[in-house]
Amino acid sequence: MPVAQWDDIVIGSGLTGACVARTLADAGRQVLMVERGQPVSEPAGSHLRNRSDYRKDPDGWFGTVDRYVTYLDSDADDPALPGAYTSSIVGGSGILWTNNCPRATAGLDQPDHLQEREWEEAYRQAEIYLDVRREEFADSRRASVIRAALQDTLSEQGRSLCHLPLAGRRLGPETIHYSAPADVLAAGSRRVTRLDGSAERLELNGNQVSGVWVGETLHTTHHVVLATGAVDAPLMLWRSGIANPALGRHLSFHPVLATQVVLDEGSIAVSENDPLPRLGIPATPSHPWFVMVLRDTNPLPVDPSDLAVPPHRLVEIQAFGPIDPHPDNRMWLDGSGAVHFDVPIRPTDQERLNAIESDVMGLVQGLGRLRRGCEPRWSPPGTAHLMGSCRMGAEDGTSVTNQNGTLHGFEGVDIAGNAVIPTRLLVNPTLTSLALAIHGQRARLS
Ligand SMILES: Cc1cc2nc3c(=O)[nH]c(=O)nc-3n(C[C@H](O)[C@H](O)[C@H](O)COP(=O)(O)OP(=O)(O)OC[C@H]3O[C@@H](n4cnc5c(N)ncnc54)[C@H](O)[C@@H]3O)c2cc1C
Repeated sequence: MPVAQWDDIVIGSGLTGACVARTLADAGRQVLMVERGQPVSEPAGSHLRNRSDYRKDPDGWFGTVDRYVTYLDSDADDPALPGAYTSSIVGGSGILWTNNCPRATAGLDQPDHLQEREWEEAYRQAEIYLDVRREEFADSRRASVIRAALQDTLSEQGRSLCHLPLAGRRLGPETIHYSAPADVLAAGSRRVTRLDGSAERLELNGNQVSGVWVGETLHTTHHVVLATGAVDAPLMLWRSGIANPALGRHLSFHPVLATQVVLDEGSIAVSENDPLPRLGIPATPSHPWFVMVLRDTNPLPVDPSDLAVPPHRLVEIQAFGPIDPHPDNRMWLDGSGAVHFDVPIRPTDQERLNAIESDVMGLVQGLGRLRRGCEPRWSPPGTAHLMGSCRMGAEDGTSVTNQNGTLHGFEGVDIAGNAVIPTRLLVNPTLTSLALAIHGQRARLS
């Protein structure tokens, strides 16, 4: 094999690209990271929310996010996933995310191809790279009040509340340094070179990758990792002439039911310096969805008649209703290069979404009242956590990569990120995607 310019080329500078590049750089390899977007934060790839102007206006956050993403399906006549988006900025969605990092649960939604010990090692490394902290807000008085209000009902249902793991650290009672790709790369960046430009396609020599075309230039390598997000990974493979019957199928996502609650006045005597409440209700077999109860950012428009609520009495509930990764849930490209989606809500999905609505209303009643204008509302389909477009699994026509993320039938082409998740994941996916990516790259290097 001819000598290549780079040990590895990672396409995408989001959280996945950063964790993969860091894993490879920590093993002594020289990595080229290709990113089509421009920096919009300083240093490049740091979280935008760490800026003081965004800290002052937490509820404006989703408006800011909208400025940095491109919706793909919203102009279609009958959009299936109007919320599906890509980001083209240095750091990808990793400079926009809200940093909640629960682990998936063994036997419930965790992919079962790794041993318990392998999951533990991979999750722990991902948590180290992201600086995930479980109990950063454990002394929140509001969190104790919420626990006391919900505990009995939840335990009757076999459920419980936990601290919500956060990728970041507390700087003050209500101030957080949010982890982003720049933090992941900080310690390993000397071996990672970022190249601005759009990766157009892979150069293949038979079934072995030999490089990546960026504009008119071929950058040579024997190992490429596509960390381009769940939409762009299949697009890159199709553009490179790689077909696979499972490509773009088995899509899943999380419809998010969001609301804001005004905590009962009687129950909530707290000081203004009380740390933020940040709690989660893990999924169980009887309640297969994840709920967050936290004060973070409110995506809903508050009715002007209900603006005058003391901030320390406000809390958001967000519940993720997973969609089954049915083989016919798919995305594809038309002749003009436009992306289309077909991801219907099937009856079993709808039943679960109905149950989530009842569950959330029960939680609201335990805590206080709905803030006017912030009644529970589902986000547009596809907004959160598109998964499975290049799912991992056995080489039997139902999956795209093996269990380390390597493309079936090819050598040196790996896919990492939410695209490879094969299960109906119930929790926010990023930590699990990163754990799978780190495990896959370490397995390759060993
Ligand atoms: C507002 C918001 C809140 C969120 N909150 C959470 C949360 O609390 N917990 C959680 O788990 N997840 C959350 N997420 C989801 C999380 O951000 C994503 O799962 C994660 O960031 C995906 O990272 P990624 O690196 O795989 O993909 P991306 O962040 O999409 O990065 C892909 C990168 O690849 C680049 N790229 C694509 N194609 C090419 C190409 N051809 N050439 C060069 N570059 C290319 C893109 O420009 C982009 O920078 C949230 C997302 C948003 C938007």
